[in-house]
Amino acid sequence: MTGAGGVLKRTHGCGELDPAAVGAEVVLCGWVARHRDHGGVLFVDLRDASGVVQAVLRPEGLPGAHDLRLEDVVAVRGVVTPRPPAMVNPSLPTGAVEIDVTSLEVLNSSRTPPFYIRDGITVEESLRLRYRYLDLRRPEMRERLAFRDRTARAIREFLHERGYIEVETPILTRSTPEGARDYLVPSRIAPGSFYALPQSPQLFKQLLMVAGVERYFQLARCFRDEDLRADRQPEFTQLDLEMSFAGAAEVMGLVEELVAHVLQRTTGRRPQVPFPRIPYVEAIRRFGTDRPDLRVPLEIRDVTTLFRGTAFAPFARTLAAGGIIGALRAPGGAELSRRELDDLACEMTGRGAAVLAWAMLEAGGGVRSPLAKHLEPGSLKNLSEALAGEPGDALLLVGGSHPATMPALGWLRLEMGRRLGLTGSEEWRFAWVTEFPLLTWSEEERRLVAVHHPFTSPLPEDLDRLDGDPADVRADAYDLVLNGIELGGGSVRIHRRGVQQRVFGALGLTLAEAERRFGFFLEALDYGAPPHAGIALGLDRLVMMLAGAASVREVIAFPKTARAACLLSGAPAAVDGKQLEDLGLRVSPPPATGLPLHACDHVEQAEAGPGEDDE
Ligand code: ASP
Repeated sequence: MTGAGGVLKRTHGCGELDPAAVGAEVVLCGWVARHRDHGGVLFVDLRDASGVVQAVLRPEGLPGAHDLRLEDVVAVRGVVTPRPPAMVNPSLPTGAVEIDVTSLEVLNSSRTPPFYIRDGITVEESLRLRYRYLDLRRPEMRERLAFRDRTARAIREFLHERGYIEVETPILTRSTPEGARDYLVPSRIAPGSFYALPQSPQLFKQLLMVAGVERYFQLARCFRDEDLRADRQPEFTQLDLEMSFAGAAEVMGLVEELVAHVLQRTTGRRPQVPFPRIPYVEAIRRFGTDRPDLRVPLEIRDVTTLFRGTAFAPFARTLAAGGIIGALRAPGGAELSRRELDDLACEMTGRGAAVLAWAMLEAGGGVRSPLAKHLEPGSLKNLSEALAGEPGDALLLVGGSHPATMPALGWLRLEMGRRLGLTGSEEWRFAWVTEFPLLTWSEEERRLVAVHHPFTSPLPEDLDRLDGDPADVRADAYDLVLNGIELGGGSVRIHRRGVQQRVFGALGLTLAEAERRFGFFLEALDYGAPPHAGIALGLDRLVMMLAGAASVREVIAFPKTARAACLLSGAPAAVDGKQLEDLGLRVSPPPATGLPLHACDHVEQAEAGPGEDDE
């Protein structure tokens, strides 16, 4: 083994070699990705960041060649030679050549890795996270990092071109109310005081508008201490954007162009713009959700009026209780078995709806339905006509309270789309959902809370209702949805102190409390704050969708687990007593020193690793 630097100086990347290089003497550096011994001749796949190439070593003249192990780091000098025609590997970019090695230098050796460093492995994700530096050596992971980089570059390229400047905002700051719990950082200099990590740069980007920046963006890190759902990260990145002297139309127009540019650059496919704009109330009515997946061409229909006075007891009870009956036409659904229908009915009641009923449209024009005997003759025909049913379709009817039944129907719509093979399609269907309610009742807090955040402007025409019917006020806000997933959202902001104070009032914040928490911000509004609007889009999720990855963890270099732990570094972890003392903190009960706080996430060294010999 040689010293740190190595003697051989690299001339090429492994992935750069092709038949044009035949005859050249090259020096390559990289990792032993595979090795095979064919009758005394060693075939080694050498991997570096640029790709993989096959090296041929005849060990007699090459000390150390026989001892090579997977993931050893080597430098080789050799001549690029064409592979015999039968040995050409068309699936490898360098598959037409190999390197006839004349010198070998082992730069460092590797322990046997805990899993194979190659694409398509199926080891436990926790093991990949524990050894993330090995996982990231795999070509598909490297490509994901590069894809993310291309996405970020395309975003910056587009926005710089349009006159936006990227401004960093503080990480140690005060609480920003995005509705999640804050991560707090204790201050040593002011014991008992805490910084909060930003849930978003919301207030700072608005202050940048007061500062006259006019066009701001940032690929911003945000931190939210939420109960983590499967595909959420406690820290994440968002494209944060704000513009002055602009409203919703300008923000949506800019984002459509931006997204089209980014998709074109990263995937070569440009989506159609503008994206459809669907008011919130309409989204719930047609799709049962404010995140409609427009790839599914089915829509919910309210058929309550068709069943007024019905003799079918479950529907009669629903209507008497002020509920609704919604219907979905499932093309080809007449094939659904009794068992499948029972399962769907269970799912509907599990989601809070009261009842599922069905009518199957038969080839000869007849209708088969357990409802038939309870209804007036012709009612099912009317229903079928109202839903434009075709022979072979199922008409699925769900009754219950509006708040439970619409989401249940939304689920049913996606489920039928999935069974029809629609939700997996690679098509991109974007939509804007607009006119959200400004406020919503929180059972937990027993007060109205902001649907987006408290700096969102009411629609101007609803402003007068703020004091009388605050729950009916619509926000001048918009969410961007892609294939049923919310990519982000934004709003026109309140830029006058009076309106901001009225919204705080509707949220149950006293003047004194508003002053204490946001006084610095309210004060800024007094110094000529311009009208402004903005948005934030989740970068992790966007990259995940464009790269076709299964989870956001696949497109983040060092992600955390669903329990918010970093399996690689062991964070979060206990700290020294001295550190706590400096901060004026006492932990109760005192943590057992040295133990990671995420013992449940602890990963055993797996037996899934490769043996000493690859093949
Ligand atoms: N600050 C908001 C968020 O992070 C986005 C915005 O209103 O611009 O969700």
